[in-house]
Amino acid sequence: MTRWDKECLEMIAHETEKVIIVEGLSDKRKIEEILNEDVTIICTNGTLSINRFDELLDMYNLDENDVYIFVDEDKSGLRLRKQLAKELPHAEHIYISKDYREVATTPYKILASLLVAKHFTVRPFYLQYN
Ligand code: MG
Repeated sequence: MTRWDKECLEMIAHETEKVIIVEGLSDKRKIEEILNEDVTIICTNGTLSINRFDELLDMYNLDENDVYIFVDEDKSGLRLRKQLAKELPHAEHIYISKDYREVATTPYKILASLLVAKHFTVRPFYLQYN
């Protein structure tokens, strides 16, 4: 194997993936339904202990990957967002409007447009569907 081959293989191995961090399983399911591409979605079920965070950091290579934080606009969501923002300064933030406050109560159409704004591919149907 040439040095060039090795470098190519390393590049492939280190290709960044998209990872979305959400709070609950219902959020994950709803976003999965809308997306038309392979994205890893992690549920935190609330703020994370340092150990749990480090586990996720390793498991999903969060320092290298493109991380998106998509949590509720309520007290526990804000607390989690603050924690994640501190640990993952490169992460992108997706915000739910205060009118809906939760991913669960936000219409599909609006969630789809928030994802499109961050260059995710969505099923076009959801851009119309409430
Ligand atoms: Mg909530």
